Amino acid sequence: MCWRDAGGCQCRAAMGVSRLCRPGSWLLLARRGPVPKVTTWTHRSFRTSITLLKQDDFTKILSNELEKVHKKVKDALPGSDWTPFKSMDHLPPEHADIVIVGGGVIGWSVAYWLKKMQTKKKAYNVLVVERDTTYSHASTVLSAGGIRQQFSRPENIQMSLFGAHFLRNINEYLGILNEDPVDVQFNPSGYLFLSSEKGAEILEENYRVQREQGAKVALLSPEQLKKKFPWINTQDVALASYGLENEGWFDPWLLLSALRRKALSMGVLHCHGEVTGFNYVTQEMVTSDGDPVNFRRIHEVIVSFK
Ligand SMILES: Cc1cc2nc3c(=O)[nH]c(=O)nc-3n(C[C@H](O)[C@H](O)[C@H](O)COP(=O)(O)OP(=O)(O)OC[C@H]3O[C@@H](n4cnc5c(N)ncnc54)[C@H](O)[C@@H]3O)c2cc1C
Repeated sequence: MCWRDAGGCQCRAAMGVSRLCRPGSWLLLARRGPVPKVTTWTHRSFRTSITLLKQDDFTKILSNELEKVHKKVKDALPGSDWTPFKSMDHLPPEHADIVIVGGGVIGWSVAYWLKKMQTKKKAYNVLVVERDTTYSHASTVLSAGGIRQQFSRPENIQMSLFGAHFLRNINEYLGILNEDPVDVQFNPSGYLFLSSEKGAEILEENYRVQREQGAKVALLSPEQLKKKFPWINTQDVALASYGLENEGWFDPWLLLSALRRKALSMGVLHCHGEVTGFNYVTQEMVTSDGDPVNFRRIHEVIVSFK
């Protein structure tokens, strides 16, 4: 049977142009099997349940279809979360430059920043693989969504200061044209740390580092603490430190959704599956001292679908 021929004819028939099968294309495939009588096939026609259309109707249908395609293309322009890859949710692409295992807040954040930092000359094909789209056990949605700068290390303080700036200006980062603005319900009400006599020195030292790094933190004596928070029992409290700005809490689910929506609008791909392994290629290289070293490079990521 000439599968290709039949398909071609049915396709045309569906457009309302029922026609005879061309013997030329049938002969091409018929070489594989026993040669049927050509005379039979030249008279065969394919029927369709669709009534033959007038030229005018056909033009109308065609322009309706073109309208739909036009709308889809319009929706796909920057500023929309429409993605041509939606129907491939369960299937990863065959190739990606960067595969991110896990679509929690870190995974989507990495995907977002990779896309944001890419240049026209060096664009990345980024894929996020997430095994549980309900996020039932993900730390992101289990977390309290607290943010503070009251750390002891400058690096953490700097990262958190940027985090607060990011949350305060979130629409500059994650906003999408013609979409609802992002609101992660950031509530900058401050963190309060209390210390006994024993811990007061450390609290003071941390406070000094935090102020040096630009965090707005204040030290409070027990009396000042009682005045600000009359409901606190200040017995045994020697010193307190309180964040005056950029500390508080937000809704982690809203942050995750906003990062995901933005990254998808920037062309990040995603799929629902579990990364179960990697295949490597080993490359032998020579160090500047002339010693051979073997490097393992991930060559394939194995994703399993339920
Ligand atoms: C109770 C609690 C309270 C917290 N409170 C705060 C807080 O107030 N402030 C703060 O800053 N931090 C807080 N944290 C920490 C914060 O939540 C985490 O640091 C952060 O969410 C980590 O994000 P993540 O994307 O790395 O991990 P997750 O959110 O856990 O995401 C990892 C994702 O990877 C997926 N995954 C794992 N393995 C695979 C695989 N093989 N294939 C495919 N997918 C995979 C998982 O399904 C999951 O969705 C808290 C954490 C907890 C648990």
